[in-house]
Amino acid sequence: MSEHVHVRVNNGLAVTESGELVEEYGCRCGTTWTRVHRADEGRPEH
Ligand SMILES: [Zn+2]
Repeated sequence: MSEHVHVRVNNGLAVTESGELVEEYGCRCGTTWTRVHRADEGRPEH
């Protein structure tokens, strides 16, 4: 399997029952990522 630079395509947003904002990303190779933002903090984390 050859290595490549993943391209993160935003697959959409979802809000959990606990009020967290979840961003979903996916690369065409099948790798996926999620990033969770806590709505009550209001600032992104690294
Ligand atoms: Zn990839």
